[in-house]
Amino acid sequence: MEAVYVDTDGRTPLEKPVEERLRFENRFIEKVDIPTGEDGEPDREACWEWTAGTDRYGYGQFFVGSLTPPNGDTDIAHRVAYRLWHNVVHIEGECLMHECDNRRCCNPHHLQAGSQQENIDQASEQGHMSVKGVDRKDGFSEDEIREIRRLNDDPDWVQAEIAEEFDVSTTAISKIVRRESYAYVE
Ligand SMILES: [Zn+2]
Repeated sequence: MEAVYVDTDGRTPLEKPVEERLRFENRFIEKVDIPTGEDGEPDREACWEWTAGTDRYGYGQFFVGSLTPPNGDTDIAHRVAYRLWHNVVHIEGECLMHECDNRRCCNPHHLQAGSQQENIDQASEQGHMSVKGVDRKDGFSEDEIREIRRLNDDPDWVQAEIAEEFDVSTTAISKIVRRESYAYVE
């Protein structure tokens, strides 16, 4: 489930007075590089890249105040971008996909909320799913198995992405998370 972030006063940014909300938005937008088109307006086609810190997977990290998201005080930048631009607290569906395949991108026109299956289909279309079919001959370490299962529990990851990260097939990942393989790893 999508975590809802709330500030110390228990409100989400969308429930705050307009000045506070603007402060939050400005602080966010300052960290996004928004190219301008020929008409002087933000360029919808271009990626709006997050310029501040990223997590180890390359997704932007934004400090959202004292809250209850999965990562403590930060949230994934493009998810914040989607909520702000679409004026929603929740993201529909389980996943937020980058149509541009750029993890730093916060351009709301490049973000698509969808189901996990759609995300897998899209990763597949973009050639991201491993089509190797052959899995590592030397197998995985126990730490890797734990990491794979941890990522699988993280709503920001789908199995296709995990497969890409580990350069194996999605079938291999699926077996690991269902404990059809490596069942002995706690
Ligand atoms: Zn983009």
